[in-house]
Amino acid sequence: MKNPPVIVWFRQDLRIHDNPAFFYAAKTKAPLLLVYILDTKTKQWQPGAASRWWLHHSLDALSKELSQKYQAKLILTMGNPAQIIPSLVKEHQATAVYWNRCYEPQAILRDQEIKQDLMNKKIEVHSFNGALLKEPWEVLNKSKQPFKVFTPFWKALQQHIMREILPAPAQFISVKAQSLNLEAYHLLPTLPWDNGLKENWVPGEVAAKNHLKQFLTKHVKDYKVLRDYPKLRATSRLSPHLHFGEISPIQIWHAAMAFKDKNASLQTDIMHFLSEIAWREFSNYLLYYFPELPDKAYQTAFNHFPWEINKKYLSAWQKGLTGYPIVDAGMRELWHTGWMHNRVRMIVASFLIKHLLQPWQSGEAWFWDTLVDADLANNAASWQWVAGSGADAAPYFRIFNPIIQGEKFDKDGEYVKQWVPELKQLEAKFVHKPWEAPDNVLKQAGIRLGQDYPLPIVNHESARKKALAAYKKLPKITTKKRPNQG
Ligand SMILES: Cc1cc2nc3c(=O)[nH]c(=O)nc-3n(C[C@H](O)[C@H](O)[C@H](O)COP(=O)(O)OP(=O)(O)OC[C@H]3O[C@@H](n4cnc5c(N)ncnc54)[C@H](O)[C@@H]3O)c2cc1C
Repeated sequence: MKNPPVIVWFRQDLRIHDNPAFFYAAKTKAPLLLVYILDTKTKQWQPGAASRWWLHHSLDALSKELSQKYQAKLILTMGNPAQIIPSLVKEHQATAVYWNRCYEPQAILRDQEIKQDLMNKKIEVHSFNGALLKEPWEVLNKSKQPFKVFTPFWKALQQHIMREILPAPAQFISVKAQSLNLEAYHLLPTLPWDNGLKENWVPGEVAAKNHLKQFLTKHVKDYKVLRDYPKLRATSRLSPHLHFGEISPIQIWHAAMAFKDKNASLQTDIMHFLSEIAWREFSNYLLYYFPELPDKAYQTAFNHFPWEINKKYLSAWQKGLTGYPIVDAGMRELWHTGWMHNRVRMIVASFLIKHLLQPWQSGEAWFWDTLVDADLANNAASWQWVAGSGADAAPYFRIFNPIIQGEKFDKDGEYVKQWVPELKQLEAKFVHKPWEAPDNVLKQAGIRLGQDYPLPIVNHESARKKALAAYKKLPKITTKKRPNQG
């Protein structure tokens, strides 16, 4: 009888190196059926437009890599994975299914259901950690409880030994099966709004690896300080590659540690970079133990916040037309490139929540649709961090002043001028507060405030006072009991 195949189900692990499910499936020496399923069943948090663009190109890159290296085919299907996986098992008489774990609550439920069904049918299921440095249940405090604060979590994480990087499988027999064309997924936009994405990004494992190498050799020096300056190319830009699993945090960890061993003077910068990777880890950890994180405030008192829903405000923020240059620059960078610098993400988020009193969930949803790195855990945890409602969050009353933030991190206004060309001719002194420029200065710069560029949508000082007053109305802050323990 023919050697029965095993199935490798690719999900958020679109790479061939350091892919535990793929590696261990190939180790069985059974023929491999490699499959990707566009999950149309899970309705909540379907990928947004920018993520769909990335997914298309990432799947294309993975298919090509598999074909060139192994003459193997990635089988593309779409629908309900709970039906597709068992039906593939049946059709090909597969004996086992391999996958790497996902941590979004809806993916956990889906995978548990599929696992149970397969096990009932005596099919082996092997799931692995391919997305995190450590599983959420491996990093616990002395009382064997999950950490609630980042710093002790990060300290504990560093005490763990990280697993070694796995190589790409050597050779295997690839099973052929019916596949959709990638185009049938309809992931690309019908209207061509994606030029900025094309100009800025190359999805796929090879590009991810190059990015990491380039970052370590060229940009990691002074990362700790320069990572806050949006005009500089001082951060890794690995976030979309990490989200889609084109590179693993384990690969990043070992590459960074090896680089540190050879370059002792970079120790502080490299450890700071790894601590940001640990924030990603912590966000997934929070999502695992508190699956409501994308929808509800972690600190329950914030569910009673007196938001003032205002469509005009939300729309001005989305379009980068608030009249606050650093906010508008960030929102336009996001729209054009599918990415925004972290410092500016904090400024625009704070502005939406605190100056405009719009619910953090409306900003989270916009980021979800427009970011190429949109990630349920990082996005939800970060929005709640800025809102002050998260675990270990910035206190609500710390309200970013968009003028001071701009003057501090974009002193010459270069970042603003790149994304808000209306202000290109304005003296740096006024670039973060054009309404303070004398008429003749504005005239010289060719700006008619209120016509070429908006007047501030709200007054900073009165908005700040209003936000603080709203905050004072909240019931005493309480921490949500974590429902998903264990
Ligand atoms: C309101 C808001 C929303 C955000 N939404 C997302 C999101 O949807 N997806 C996302 O990946 N990041 C999100 N972030 C976190 C952060 O802004 C990005 O990860 C970072 O800007 C990506 O750029 P980089 O890869 O150059 O980062 P680097 O500085 O090079 O950091 C390396 C990696 O560490 C991780 N990381 C860095 N900062 C954070 C952070 N604060 N929280 C969690 N992980 C972090 C990312 O995976 C990043 O790629 C958000 C931040 C804010 C303030």
